Amino acid sequence: MHEARASTVSVTAALHDVAGLGGFFALRVGGRDDGWHPVARSYAAGFTDLAEAVARRHRTPEPRVDVSLAHLGHAARLWSPALACVVLHGIVPDLEGLQRADDGPALRVPRPAGWYADRLDGDPARAVYQQVTRHLSALADGLRVKVAPRLLDGNSASALAGAAHALLALRPAVRRPLTDLTTALLDTGHLAGTGVLTGPDLAFRRRSCCLYYRAPDGSKCADCGLAQGVPCRAPR
Ligand code: SF4
Repeated sequence: MHEARASTVSVTAALHDVAGLGGFFALRVGGRDDGWHPVARSYAAGFTDLAEAVARRHRTPEPRVDVSLAHLGHAARLWSPALACVVLHGIVPDLEGLQRADDGPALRVPRPAGWYADRLDGDPARAVYQQVTRHLSALADGLRVKVAPRLLDGNSASALAGAAHALLALRPAVRRPLTDLTTALLDTGHLAGTGVLTGPDLAFRRRSCCLYYRAPDGSKCADCGLAQGVPCRAPR
C-alpha cells in the first residue's frame, strides 16, 4: 500500500471538497487541537455522551435505542466522506487518527492522509470497507449496552446507502461508479445480507430495524425502506 499513498495536498483538497457537500459529508481537516479528542477514547467510553444526547433529544424509553441511533449517526459521518472521496476524487481517506468534537458528533482528521484508489494492490472497495468498519467495530466493542450485532451491521449498511443516495442527488454524473462501489460494499464482509438496493436512486431496504420506531417522535420511519416494505415487528 505504501506506493499508493496520496499526497497530503490531494487528500486535503478531496476532504475539503466533499465537506462542502454538507450534512454528514462534513469531515473537518486540520485546525487547532483544542476541543477535539481521539475518537478511540469515545469508543472506549461506550459512546455514552452521544447516546445520552440522543436520549434527551428523542425522549427514548430504553438505552439500546439511544445507542443504536448514536451508532447510526456516527456510521453516516464515516461512510459519507469516505464514499465521496473515492467516487469524486479517487482517494481512499486514511481514518487512523480520527478525532471527535468534545461537545458533539463532528469528526476531524488532524493530519490528512490516504491512498490513490487506482494504485492500490487490492480492491478499493475493500480498502474503504476496512477504513470505516474498523471504527464501527471499535465502537461496538466499547458499548456498555447490549445491542444485536446484526442491528449494528444493518445500521452501517443503511448509513452507507443513505450516503450514496445523498451523493447521487448532489452529483448525478457519478451514478455509475457510485452505484458500482456501493453495490460492492454492500456485498462485503459484515454488510453482506443486511438489505438490498431497491432502485436507481440507491434507495435501500434493510433487513434489521434501527429501533427508531421506539422513540416517541420516531415519525421518520415513513421514509425507511423497512417501514415501507417489511413491517416493523414492534407496535408503533
Ligand atoms: S422502520 Fe423505523 S425503526 Fe425500523 S429501521 Fe426503519 S426507520 Fe428504523
